[in-house]
Amino acid sequence: MTVAPQRPPTRPGTQGARPVPATPTTLRPGMPGTRPAVLAPRPAAPPPPQPSIRARLLKPFGPRPAVDRPLVQLEHVTMRYPNGKVALHDVDLAIPEGDFVFIVGPSGAGKSTLIKLLIRDEVATSGDVQLDGQSLARVKRLNVPKLRRRIGIVFQDYKLLPNKTVWENVAFALEVTATPRKQIRPAVDRVLAVVGLTSQARQLPSTLSGGEMQRTAIARALVHDPRLIIADEPTGNLDPLISWEILQLLLRINELGVTVLMATHDADVVTALRKRVVALEEGRVISDEVGGGYHRTD
Ligand code: ADP
Repeated sequence: MTVAPQRPPTRPGTQGARPVPATPTTLRPGMPGTRPAVLAPRPAAPPPPQPSIRARLLKPFGPRPAVDRPLVQLEHVTMRYPNGKVALHDVDLAIPEGDFVFIVGPSGAGKSTLIKLLIRDEVATSGDVQLDGQSLARVKRLNVPKLRRRIGIVFQDYKLLPNKTVWENVAFALEVTATPRKQIRPAVDRVLAVVGLTSQARQLPSTLSGGEMQRTAIARALVHDPRLIIADEPTGNLDPLISWEILQLLLRINELGVTVLMATHDADVVTALRKRVVALEEGRVISDEVGGGYHRTD
């Protein structure tokens, strides 16, 4: 697999090919990604028009127009499940485009709930969850699949279709959106090359190693050319060496301009990479720092 070596630590918002400054009015001084307080808030400029996903499918990943707002923003988000359990309490979080962020915390801390809110699997009880300036509470159920296509989602258990080859698993993600056949082939070939699976394209999942299955899942997540990849414990089923390979791949994808949010228990990886680490405990953000370590407690 050809992945770039790890880079030295950088501030959030400065990683990737298209760093975007954080919004001064929404981040607190001292938080990672915050501008100096002396900067006056700028009047909001209308976002530049985005080319359609289909138009971008055939282009290489690369810089996108800078927009002066976080790609992901949670403001005073509380999530109470119907049984009364409060999984998130008054969470504030801003993730500028281009960031690589680990979400860590013990079991039950609220990591999966945070991800469910971001993919609009759940709606916050109070507060606002925004993706690229859009309030997810306002997205109609009918439009949720369209929203999810703007996000690449990678799970611990891969969720591959067992009777389809690697190539077909990735292509299927485009077929269900009625992408024209002539656009599917180059898009699938391109993402398989990015994840280093060109020579395994015709294999069924049952013939792949765990790392290859996860790389297939990452290719499937990438094929819609998302601006955000959310990975929920992507290395949870993998041994340390393969976990490291998957991490290197996610770093490379981040360098290609995709924002990455990864929930993990993998303390070694989090500590070694010195990226932004948001730690949750009992539904609250207890720390948010670049180069933060993580000591697993469960
Ligand atoms: P993590 O991913 O960090 O392990 P979760 O977000 O899964 O944490 O869970 C946070 C808390 O919310 C836990 O106490 C969990 O039991 C509770 N919880 C999660 N999902 C539900 C649900 N659907 N209904 C009720 N409680 C839930």
